[in-house]
Amino acid sequence: MVHKIKDLKSNVHNDWCPGCGDFGILNAIQLALTETEHETNNFAIFSGIGCSGKLPHYINAYGIHTLHGRVLPYAMGAKLANPKLKVLAIGGDGDGLGIGASHFIHAGRRNVDFTYIMHNNGVYGLTKGQASPTLKLDVKTKSLPEPNINSSINPISLALTVGVTFIARSYAYDIRHLKEIIKRAIEHKGFAFIDVLQPCPTYNNINTKAWYSGEDRLDPVTKKARSRIYKIEEQGFDPVIRTGMTKEQIQNKKFEVVKIAEEWGDKIPIGVFYQNELVTNYESRIERRIPTYYQRPPALQKIQDDNGMSNTDLTEIFEDFKV
Ligand code: SF4
Repeated sequence: MVHKIKDLKSNVHNDWCPGCGDFGILNAIQLALTETEHETNNFAIFSGIGCSGKLPHYINAYGIHTLHGRVLPYAMGAKLANPKLKVLAIGGDGDGLGIGASHFIHAGRRNVDFTYIMHNNGVYGLTKGQASPTLKLDVKTKSLPEPNINSSINPISLALTVGVTFIARSYAYDIRHLKEIIKRAIEHKGFAFIDVLQPCPTYNNINTKAWYSGEDRLDPVTKKARSRIYKIEEQGFDPVIRTGMTKEQIQNKKFEVVKIAEEWGDKIPIGVFYQNELVTNYESRIERRIPTYYQRPPALQKIQDDNGMSNTDLTEIFEDFKV
């Protein structure tokens, strides 16, 4: 059955720092789960290592807190074993674009039907604030002895390059916007990636909630903060690749996405950047080879008989190895 939000709150003690953007992401996910038509019991939520990795503990749903950088293989494995599951993968930018970067690349070209939510705060919060792969070059957050010496990865451009078919960004403190993006990602028929800008008030004293809100640059007339964040959907941007579009039109759309994704500092875009359901997902590619895949996926197959013995007869296979 579909739950109410109070049913989705677990009784595990939450030890995120006060004011952490992770709270907004947790709330948005819980709200999205209550508003989808899918039964909550049909969701499986996986996480990597980092502050974000604790998130499945705080949701009263099935989930596994996995290994550093390995959330995507877990999530893809579960989804492919049981394609009826709705799978969410949760991780930080350090987890997903540092040690886990190669999995992100290959997840892009596979296009398994699941949703990956990245908490992007520019630091490794759990290990005291080292620079993560999304921290901009020359930025010095408070726990760095020197400004960041590395250039940053742009998650949106990387996702587009590796073939992700749903690419979006939202903001942890805009829970309504993030909830809607998550719902849309869940319904996407392929790999959906959401880059969530998530202030870490403890270690990132540069990209703070006040900075995103533009409290450091008041309008000279109204004296109100001028937010750095803007919504691309409100600018009329259309992210969808449709049947009948030419190769050139699709290429131009990608160029446009990269250009918007480059914006940072004065203007920071959020919204859905790209959606292409014309690319077949991995499950459909398997079905072409194994027509019974959806009826008899691995998770629904018996692996032992009533005596606990394996159902698989390996005799024929071993014949090939006889010398
Ligand atoms: Fe949140 Fe940063 Fe604290 Fe981690 S260290 S819980 S990301 S505020």
